[in-house]
Amino acid sequence: MTFQYWNKKMETLPRPELEAWQLEKLRETVKQALRAPFYRKRLTEAGIRGPEDFKTPGDLGRIPFTTKQDLREGFPYGFLAVPREEVVRLHASSGTTGTPTTIYFNAGDLKRWTGFVARCIYGTGCTRADVFQNMITYGLFTGGLGFHAGGEEVGMLVIPSGAGNTTRQFHLMRDFGTTVVHATPSFLLHVEAKMREEGVNREHLKLKRAFAGAEPYSEDTRRRIEDLLKIDVYNSYGLSEMNGPGVAFECQHKDGLHLWEDGYIAEIINPDTLEPVRDGERGELVLTVLCREADPILRYRTRDLTAFYTEPCPCGRTHRRLCRIKGRTDDMLIINGVNIFPSQIEEVIMAMGEVGNNYLIEIEKEGELDRLTVKTEVTPETFMDDTRPLNALKEKIRHTLQASITCNPRVELHESGSLPASEGKAVRVIDKRPRDG
Ligand code: AMP
Ligand code: ZN
Repeated sequence: MTFQYWNKKMETLPRPELEAWQLEKLRETVKQALRAPFYRKRLTEAGIRGPEDFKTPGDLGRIPFTTKQDLREGFPYGFLAVPREEVVRLHASSGTTGTPTTIYFNAGDLKRWTGFVARCIYGTGCTRADVFQNMITYGLFTGGLGFHAGGEEVGMLVIPSGAGNTTRQFHLMRDFGTTVVHATPSFLLHVEAKMREEGVNREHLKLKRAFAGAEPYSEDTRRRIEDLLKIDVYNSYGLSEMNGPGVAFECQHKDGLHLWEDGYIAEIINPDTLEPVRDGERGELVLTVLCREADPILRYRTRDLTAFYTEPCPCGRTHRRLCRIKGRTDDMLIINGVNIFPSQIEEVIMAMGEVGNNYLIEIEKEGELDRLTVKTEVTPETFMDDTRPLNALKEKIRHTLQASITCNPRVELHESGSLPASEGKAVRVIDKRPRDG
């Protein structure tokens, strides 16, 4: 396989040079951060006077972590490190975990961000010949405009279709010969189910590739989308605090996400002890942005759980790979004292061929106990009038889940297309337990 690089020199920079680059950029970033009210105080309190305090990569550890709570407290302009007049764009996090936080870009920041997104897109084999339909929310969410700009930078024809409006998405795909799409994995599954329902002939479409991200999904879900739509699916990871998409992405080898270490410094820590984990061990990802002047954020605790690959990638890129992000520290559900990540449930059900493209997890209080219900759609072929095979399937799901999560769930089967579908990030967990209970 021949691999395609957007910026071969930077993507394959030998590690010592990459680390020297990071140190240089870290110094510049610290200098810039000291101009923001929040960091002037925070860094001064930590005894940091300026870039001269950073002589080796290990000096990064002198900087205190930044949390989501810090960002909220700095709202709206506490993290701004340039005059307001220099800012040309703002974006906000999707607010799935509380009040949204805002980030700011100057013109150079936007250019650098676009460069990283273009690198991701090009690295999957896209060229100017491609037609790219960006089926994700535009607006404050970074996924829309971020991928839009990256796609144009690569020179593809970009269709800013946005999320939702499934039937129109098919028309656009057919009329303009869309070859590449970007969406959340849940929306891709929804689109596929609708396609079947509306009798859209896959053979009339030119689709060959999708970028799927913004929410966790399992390897089985990827395979399901790939098999159903007959395309290649690439995992895309980013977060608004670190610009948005373009932080880490799969290359054509499709095994692990290269984190662009010339734009970000990544650490993985044990979320309890805050100490770095051993190489290859799972923990919380901590990121420092090296490519943003308007709004520098240092050692940000993402709450996303992942690990570094220890082996280099056959594609030749020197930037380390992250494992698929299966969930966040704050995703964890405690059900009758058992810790469960929603991704563990997804892994079990999406591996079953009879299961459809959508599912929901519901938790309620029943007396003193927590009650977990897994509601899943089944494929139209499975959903028949005869209830015997359905009962057997229900029992199989219940049994497999129980073995994997050591918790006995109730299982409900639903007709394909009947559970609420989402256009943006899927809301998979409905926790009906009283908050203070
Ligand atoms: P936002 O700042 O609203 O864009 O949300 C960013 C968050 O979405 C990240 O911190 C992750 O929790 C999640 N996320 C984004 N991309 C992925 C992905 N490919 N896999 C798993 N989670 C993701
Ligand atoms: Zn690679």
